[in-house]
Amino acid sequence: MDFQDYQGVWVFIEEKDGEIPSVSLELLGAGRKLADKRGVELAGILIGEDIKHLAQTVFEYGADTVYVYDQPIFKHYRTESFMKALLECSNKYKPEIILFGATSTGKDLASAVATDLPTGLTADTTELDVEEDTGLLLASRPAFGGNIMATILCKKYRPQMATVRAKVMKALPPQPGRTGKVIEEKVSLKEEDIRTKVLEIVKETTKKVRIDEADIIVAGGKGLGSAEGFQLVHQLANALGGTVGASRDVVEAGWIEHGHQVGQTGVTVTPKIYIAIGISGAIQHIVGMKNSGLIIAINKDSEAPIFDSCHYGIVGDAFEIVPVLIEQFTQALS
Ligand code: FAD
Repeated sequence: MDFQDYQGVWVFIEEKDGEIPSVSLELLGAGRKLADKRGVELAGILIGEDIKHLAQTVFEYGADTVYVYDQPIFKHYRTESFMKALLECSNKYKPEIILFGATSTGKDLASAVATDLPTGLTADTTELDVEEDTGLLLASRPAFGGNIMATILCKKYRPQMATVRAKVMKALPPQPGRTGKVIEEKVSLKEEDIRTKVLEIVKETTKKVRIDEADIIVAGGKGLGSAEGFQLVHQLANALGGTVGASRDVVEAGWIEHGHQVGQTGVTVTPKIYIAIGISGAIQHIVGMKNSGLIIAINKDSEAPIFDSCHYGIVGDAFEIVPVLIEQFTQALS
């Protein structure tokens, strides 16, 4: 394998209901930095039906080139069809790096493509960098239960591939009118060649909490003592117009559902304000909230690790402090 043949950074662009989800725009921001460091092009790869017009958005968020596969066969995501397009495109144009969102689609597609190419894939990356001279991708992620950050390299194969969690990278501010090169491609694939058929799309009827979209999160931990004590977290969140978050121990205790869990095995969040009440600050929790705009911690143990990761810390009993905050905010904001 001659590494000289492989050039450029690619981002697989997802499309949902005619729009590009924020994770793909964030990856374009991250990809732009890698491409600039290497002095190469950043490309987006768009696969779907009636999606060609989305190339403009991909340019505005930093891409120089967009590879477009716009065919009816791509109306719904299916591993076989999307994989064929990506494999053909990658074998033809040979990118050095391909990034995917660590979404259900991104994870499924990346692992299928990596197996077939074959090359390495780093899953659930939280930090990305590239060696300027060698082009080696430095893909870092928490490992060994979150106790260390491991930087994973793919030294022997190209392209290098990684999936990246939503909300960890930052999208660039869009540049309206910025354009680039569109390369249209087609795969020769018939419907009968694909084993998976989409019969119906059933939209979820229960409303899921989206703590990853909240501007204010009030999160509680085991320090609240019980499900009743945890109600304080709900009350403060209500007073602030925020959303409730929780540590894993709270979810495991059954005080709140998993959709509220922040951290390595929960959701990664970046609200403007994150208030952590009675949370010790285990690394697995910190990796999920450390990029929040303003972090305020309330804990009765002045040595609690959460105080190493917050902007403001209040040492004291949550049951004394939080009721005062609820009262003050309710008065001030009513
Ligand atoms: P504790 O560690 O028990 O901390 C309670 C805190 O409350 C203490 O600091 C205490 O001083 C304080 N406190 C007690 N009483 C009061 C009071 N009256 N007022 C104020 N403060 C008080 N954890 C996550 O959160 N998210 C994850 O996604 C996650 N994933 C994990 C994945 C793996 C593979 C592993 C091994 C662990 C994971 N964990 C995760 C668990 C994590 O390691 C911690 O066990 C967990 O975060 C601790 O939760 P906690 O801070 O609520 O509880």
